[in-house]
Amino acid sequence: MGGRREELAGNLDGLRRRIAAACGAAGRDPGEVTLIAITKTYPASDVKLLAELGVADVGENRDQEAAPKAAACAGAPLRWHFVGRLQSNKARSVVGYADVVHSVDRPSLAAALSTAATRAEREIRAFVQVNLDTSEAGRGGAAPEDVPALADAVAGADGLRLAGLMAVAPLVSAGRPDLAAAAFARLAELSARLRERHPDAAAISAGMSGDLEQAIAAGATHVRVGTALLGIRPPLR
Ligand SMILES: *Cc1c(COP(=O)(O)O)cnc(C)c1O
Repeated sequence: MGGRREELAGNLDGLRRRIAAACGAAGRDPGEVTLIAITKTYPASDVKLLAELGVADVGENRDQEAAPKAAACAGAPLRWHFVGRLQSNKARSVVGYADVVHSVDRPSLAAALSTAATRAEREIRAFVQVNLDTSEAGRGGAAPEDVPALADAVAGADGLRLAGLMAVAPLVSAGRPDLAAAAFARLAELSARLRERHPDAAAISAGMSGDLEQAIAAGATHVRVGTALLGIRPPLR
């Protein structure tokens, strides 16, 4: 299956060029931007190929898929990121393989992750996820006005370290770079406000295959890329 390896290598090369160009345009150092390969729906064999190609960070959005995949890749030098909506009763499982959780959207989840991390004697980096479009209440993320209290809860929780803020651009911004840029500017503003109280929580997780340029221009430190690296996902069954 040399074909898949070459395909991934080519995609990775193109992606690194995009990130470098976006950083160049923004006057930023590409070393400030962590690429997270979002491997959902793709097999552990792809994750292993990515690791061999030098990808160090991978992300998943469903525990039932991520847990066995992470186990199958044990031994590969990878940091696992959890980026999806998370039920509190899955916190223990996620803490078993993830180093970073990008989707803390409510105090009860912060508490569950804290308990799980403490029991496992681990420290988890936690992003507070912000909902940038409150007309899409079902999409996940805390309302902007709830971010300060939630961030305080995460920062004060044993076993958790507050990393910063995460967001997904609103659905309406698909194919509209101006709307994506506006959403990420709002996120940057919220991040600046967060850093007044939590100076170390400077990370910004934003930008996907379609809008990573806008995210990097707005200061993203972590981009989460699936399609542009692995290909169009088959529909979920
Ligand atoms: C799937 C997913 C991504 C990657 O999206 P692409 O458009 O495939 O790059 C990023 N972030 C989250 C939270 C996701 O669920």
